Amino acid sequence: MSPLYGGIEAGGTKFVCAIGSGPGAICAEARFPTTSPEETIQQAIAFFDEQHTLRRQPLAAIGIASFGPLDPNPDSPTFGHITSTPKPGWKNADLAGEIRRTLKVPVGFDTDVNGAALAERRWGAAQGLDTFLYLTIGTGIGGGGMVGGQLMHGLIHPEMGHIRLPHDRQADPFDGFCPYHGDCLEGLAAGPAIEQRWNARAETLPLEHPAWALEAHYLGLALSDFICMLSPQRIILGGGVMSQLHLFPLVRAKVQELLNGYVQSPRILEEIDAYIVPPALGAQAGVLGALALAEAAI
Ligand code: ADP
Ligand code: ZN
Repeated sequence: MSPLYGGIEAGGTKFVCAIGSGPGAICAEARFPTTSPEETIQQAIAFFDEQHTLRRQPLAAIGIASFGPLDPNPDSPTFGHITSTPKPGWKNADLAGEIRRTLKVPVGFDTDVNGAALAERRWGAAQGLDTFLYLTIGTGIGGGGMVGGQLMHGLIHPEMGHIRLPHDRQADPFDGFCPYHGDCLEGLAAGPAIEQRWNARAETLPLEHPAWALEAHYLGLALSDFICMLSPQRIILGGGVMSQLHLFPLVRAKVQELLNGYVQSPRILEEIDAYIVPPALGAQAGVLGALALAEAAI
């Protein structure tokens, strides 16, 4: 019998809990809104308890792919905690510890984007790669991935959504909405920035709207910086905004224009369609990320 894993996709608006072992092998799932940490964590525990009584097989591990900022360092006293979120009640919440103590299983804990990156490597668009990025462009912008076969951690974890970009205020007078930086990448290019700048949700804007060229401009600036810094073998772009697939050719062209032939790889110069790509796991990336973190925890 192959091992069975638990996964928690812990989002700022909803939690998705699942049992399974990979794509096409998810045998139970529950979703509920993210309320207080006490209530939400208890709901997750109740789901796994119930599943445990239904199935004879115990869970080998639980993976938690979470919103952040969080502490992913197993040697830290606050490992498993959400750290500085503005989300009411969640600052310093011990998400992984509570799950591990109550359910008595090994727990893997990382950012939602590192989880999604690991799932894409295990089953999706980053198979066989050891240095790649996964970025999500949604309510916020987050980035994770691997360097040399290791998920990116360090001081804490990367905050790729908060890099600073050139911002031509004549071309784009929008101040940006990041509460910390105003016009960082997330402040200028996440879904809410599009909505606030144009007074319409991104999903309602027509293909010919100038929003898309501007969006590709900011994403292209960010990606060309990430390429120069990390030399990724591929970049996967997910999240609600990137479900506008017409953005991909715009972003690829912008990256080529900005790099201007300097990074001498055929992957950028000739095969960029296979270099900057959508996630292969689509809407399942989050929950599969949690299962991949569980698998990696043992
Ligand atoms: P979250 O980041 O909260 O997990 P999403 O990735 O769906 O969720 O991101 C939500 C943001 O993405 C919102 O700002 C929304 O306007 C935008 N968005 C969602 N779906 C689409 C779409 N099909 N086209 C463009 N923008 C979208
Ligand atoms: Zn910011």
